[in-house]
Amino acid sequence: DLVICTRGLTKSYNGRPVLKSLDLKVPRNSIFGFLGPNGAGKSTTIKLLLGLIKPTAGSGTVFGLDIARDSAEIRRRIGYLPQNPRYYDYMTARETLRFTAGFFYKGPAELVERRVDETLRMTGLDDKADRKIKGFSGGELQRLGIAQAQINNPDLLILDEPAASLDPMGRRDVLEVMRSLKNRTTIFYSTHILDDVQRVSDTVAILNKGTLIAMAPIEDLLTAR
Ligand code: ADP
Ligand code: ADP
Repeated sequence: DLVICTRGLTKSYNGRPVLKSLDLKVPRNSIFGFLGPNGAGKSTTIKLLLGLIKPTAGSGTVFGLDIARDSAEIRRRIGYLPQNPRYYDYMTARETLRFTAGFFYKGPAELVERRVDETLRMTGLDDKADRKIKGFSGGELQRLGIAQAQINNPDLLILDEPAASLDPMGRRDVLEVMRSLKNRTTIFYSTHILDDVQRVSDTVAILNKGTLIAMAPIEDLLTAR
């Protein structure tokens, strides 16, 4: 039962391939760690899955839908936290989520409010809900980003380097939230930090210079060394 499946997925810029014939298989209800150094092609892969850019060659599906053709439908069912999200400092966490819900979670006001509360609770921000973002720590900001991505109850959550800019406490925070969301949704997260992958992932794919060099359950990768 695959959430993401790609075949020979390839992307070139000006004739230079940055992603080379990628075959990815992401099982449902798991945390999938997409590990690779900066420049490996992780963000490019994510943009292809979201239909933000078109493949040079190859194909892929998300929820069985074609990434080149059905991106609008795919995006409706995905929550996405980009690498460098921006926030309005003077808004509170709750206001920010209401604002996001305005775009991605339509419904009567009381239902939206209930969803905002639920999302704040899921990401451990309920006690900070009415504080201005200005004073948030890095870990709290990333939890808010995950909350935003979760607002429409997505079937797949894509997190691009969610812990990269954080101190150890912030990183632990983010990994904990990811673990707690695991039984609700599939999580695809890209990172260059091996330690984070080892701590939370069920399956790992390793990307280097646009080439997939390994993809296996985490236990297999750890014992193979
Ligand atoms: P990662 O997310 O793993 O750091 P990226 O997918 O951002 O890697 O980038 C992979 C490679 O593709 C890098 O060498 C990057 O400079 C290049 N690249 C990404 N986007 C573009 C673009 N729009 N035009 C040209 N080169 C790009
Ligand atoms: P990310 O890893 O999130 O893609 P980057 O800083 O690498 O962040 O890229 C920022 C933007 O610039 C992205 O939209 C990316 O596609 C584009 N980009 C990255 N590398 C290049 C490049 N060498 N030439 C042109 N555009 C690039």
